[in-house]
Amino acid sequence: MGRAFVYVIVGGGVAAGYAAHEFVKRGVSHGELCIISEEPVAPYERPALSKGYLLPEGIELILRTRVKSADVRRKTLLTGTGETISYKYLIVATGARALRLEEFGVNGSDAANVCYLRDLADADRLVNVMQSCPGGNAVVIGGGYIGMECAASLVINKLNVTMVFPDAHCMARLFTPKIASYYEEFYQCKGVKFVKGTVLTSFDFNSDGTVTAVNLKNGIKLPADIVVVGIRIRPNTTLFEGQLTMEKGGIKVNAKMQSSNSSVFAIGDVAAFPIKLVGETRRLEHVDAARKSARHAVAAIMEPEKTGEIDYLPFFYSRVFTLSWQFYGDNAGEVIHFGDFYGNTFGAYWIHKGHLVGCFLEGGTKEQYEAIARAIRVKPRIEDLRRASEARFGICIVF
Ligand code: FAD
Ligand code: NAD
Repeated sequence: MGRAFVYVIVGGGVAAGYAAHEFVKRGVSHGELCIISEEPVAPYERPALSKGYLLPEGIELILRTRVKSADVRRKTLLTGTGETISYKYLIVATGARALRLEEFGVNGSDAANVCYLRDLADADRLVNVMQSCPGGNAVVIGGGYIGMECAASLVINKLNVTMVFPDAHCMARLFTPKIASYYEEFYQCKGVKFVKGTVLTSFDFNSDGTVTAVNLKNGIKLPADIVVVGIRIRPNTTLFEGQLTMEKGGIKVNAKMQSSNSSVFAIGDVAAFPIKLVGETRRLEHVDAARKSARHAVAAIMEPEKTGEIDYLPFFYSRVFTLSWQFYGDNAGEVIHFGDFYGNTFGAYWIHKGHLVGCFLEGGTKEQYEAIARAIRVKPRIEDLRRASEARFGICIVF
């Protein structure tokens, strides 16, 4: 038994939702498009983990259904319920999964008070555990996006929060030590403690298997009523290993988001696509990339002759407490900090091979953020580094 569709999207996250919208906007007919998602709900905006579903009407939505295998030569998918779905075009939007502590040799992820955060079910669970230990001790493992955003939420909810991570400072993939120290000091003023340069080695459990403490490699034991883990993600590529070309841990696609098989496109966290600005293929793990790669793939499928190459400007952001930052471009090369690191508005430029390639700005206005995005897109040549470092904000640089 099986069904056939012109377009099938496997995965039901942010990228799938935006791809569905683009299909509908471009005039897909009823019954032509199907989304298969293992989640029990329609695609939603993951960053807010809100219930503002992204799905337009007129689409066949197969929920609670995991795609078990794919055959890109035959153009078929086999679902967990035993159904074969065939397609003319397939969009892979399977995103990524959170890495588990077991992958770092630590057991205990299944304990009732150890939480990960990737989907709606995880978010509901985290809130329940948090509410079950008011005023208790929270240990956050990882100092990246999940760690920083969850630590802020936990302390706002009046838990005693300690963050643990192996790097010398938080957000090590993006922040400079100077930028990181601003956020760490801000967090410390809110009551968050940091244990840096070490990792968790084991948990202590009580008789019902609940974690009671976290043991660190440096010998410290931290009491814990809730543990939140954010130690990176891994793209969900398994279905296509050995069938499609992979790069940077994801499915390699060209500037039309098309994989090594011409009927298969990949979007969102799972896709490694060419970034013109840096002249290389990258996998980006952020919503803006998911949204824009989704729209581009659909355009390339439905109007191939009118669709050019994607020219994506990497854009990352976060908002916690009263803080809000945006970053555009690439954090490569020499860094020049600017602004008031004792106040509310500051940032950094990255200059690589004589060109402005990246800019970070905390506390900017809408106009300032738009200006730095425009500046990075132009990738201007910086003749005089000294003059650039004296400029107060990114938008003051004289090109
Ligand atoms: P996902 O949204 O993860 O969707 C993947 C989908 O595929 C899921 O529905 C999954 O169940 C499904 N799936 C996977 N395998 C199968 C299978 N075999 N069969 C069927 N279905 C399958 N980015 C930002 O830029 N700013 C933010 O503020 C921000 N906040 C975030 C907050 C949280 C809590 C999280 C987890 C992420 C956040 N991100 C943020 C990152 C952003 O959400 C991701 O980049 C984005 O969700 C990627 O979209 P995607 O569709 O590729 O993957
Ligand atoms: P991340 O890469 O941002 O951070 C991972 C952190 O875990 C780092 O601090 C790293 O040093 C630490 N780490 C690695 N191994 C460890 C170990 N063994 N023990 C302790 N710490 C360890 O990844 P994340 O925070 O898990 O976020 C997951 C995904 O969610 C990312 O793709 C991210 O882009 C996305 N996300 C984005 C946003 C945003 O853009 N605002 C918000 C939330 C989540």
